Amino acid sequence: MVVVGAGAAGLFCAGLAGQRGLKVLLVDHSEKIAEKIRISGGGRANFTNRDLDVRAPQRHFIGGNPNFCRSALSRYAPQQFIDLVHKHGIAYHEKHKGQLFCDGSSQQIIDMLLAECEAGGVTRWQPCKLGKIVFSAAGDGTSGAGSYRIDSTRGPIETPRLVVATGGLSIPQIGASDFGYRLAEQFGLRVVTPRPALVPLTFGGDAWAPYAELAGLALPVRIETGARKEKMAFLEDLLFTHRGLSGPAVLQISSYWKPGSPLTLDFAPGVDVAEALAEAKLRSKKRIANELAALVPSRLADAWVGQDPALQRPINEAADKALAALAERIARWQIIPSGTEGYKKAEVTAGGVDTRDLSSQTMESKQPGLYFIGEVVDVTGWLGGYNFQWAWASAHACATSF
Ligand SMILES: Cc1cc2nc3c(=O)[nH]c(=O)nc-3n(C[C@H](O)[C@H](O)[C@H](O)COP(=O)(O)OP(=O)(O)OC[C@H]3O[C@@H](n4cnc5c(N)ncnc54)[C@H](O)[C@@H]3O)c2cc1C
Repeated sequence: MVVVGAGAAGLFCAGLAGQRGLKVLLVDHSEKIAEKIRISGGGRANFTNRDLDVRAPQRHFIGGNPNFCRSALSRYAPQQFIDLVHKHGIAYHEKHKGQLFCDGSSQQIIDMLLAECEAGGVTRWQPCKLGKIVFSAAGDGTSGAGSYRIDSTRGPIETPRLVVATGGLSIPQIGASDFGYRLAEQFGLRVVTPRPALVPLTFGGDAWAPYAELAGLALPVRIETGARKEKMAFLEDLLFTHRGLSGPAVLQISSYWKPGSPLTLDFAPGVDVAEALAEAKLRSKKRIANELAALVPSRLADAWVGQDPALQRPINEAADKALAALAERIARWQIIPSGTEGYKKAEVTAGGVDTRDLSSQTMESKQPGLYFIGEVVDVTGWLGGYNFQWAWASAHACATSF
């Protein structure tokens, strides 16, 4: 068996398959493998999420068929990966909402996966670039079996099973490529148009000018997009940047955001701002910005109040209508992003090999002997360790199917 891509999914799949007795060759075009694991989680790899809902794991994932990932994720749960981390003596901690990080560094996860490959007798070729790939059906071509002949910079390779684990398009400077999508298309499989996800959002032109001075400000918000059945909301931290919005709240919502549609933000979640301002008007002679600063960070209060001359006064002199409008702009601020920061800043790529052309049990495609695992598949997780959990679970589903 040949696995292309020595990242999270490829390394894990190769090690498992090798330990199950398969002869495995793992190839990667980069000199340095698993670069995304190395840079993940701020260098500490948020390697899984303990809060993954084992009864409905698909809740934390998006894709053309959100239920596709259910089988693999319920057969390889976070606890199984945690057990492996324990076995390798890696210390870890929970940071926020079930997110597990290494105490030391993400290199420990890479070393663990390499040790698992070693235990499985996996042969590794890297850097090794792949060229033309041709499939020859065995016998009369109706049995389903056959083999792949692959040209590579280390010579020709022949294999009945080809596993593609080449990931998505984000962070092209560390080895991302469209290899998986091109190969899928070569064999007539459908590909859902890739797009950056878990990515900061931008607000072009002059519209952002009044907010650019807030760059660096972070605060907890409720953020929402979509309507009716497509509505999605997160309660997370927001970060103002020079070009737009970032932070966990925006990364999470970016995977659901559709170009042209608005985001709605509540800067004081859980607080009735209208009532708080009306009550302050009855008892206080302080300026409105000062009263608002009791509810939201003062930089935000100054910026919001500064936009309206009717609000540059003591709160007891403010018109009820002006206070109500201010409360609405704090609790339901609507803004339409002009775009995203793109693959250069995206943590993942949404879209990918269409799950309608893959088996949710084994990850084999409709093309016999050709498998796709990890981020190259149209399955995208939330921020917080879910994407690695998908890499482990899809790799496990594939490796245990042989
Ligand atoms: C900055 C950043 C931080 C992240 N932090 C987290 C986190 O903390 N938790 C989390 O769950 N997820 C995180 N992610 C997402 C996570 O890294 C990916 O979802 C995960 O690595 C996907 O695994 P994969 O094996 O499918 O692909 P990758 O890990 O990207 O591996 C793909 C491999 O394929 C190789 N390859 C590509 N093209 C070719 C080719 N043509 N020929 C041969 N080899 C090829 C690449 O060199 C690479 O080694 C983060 C991503 C980024 C960018």
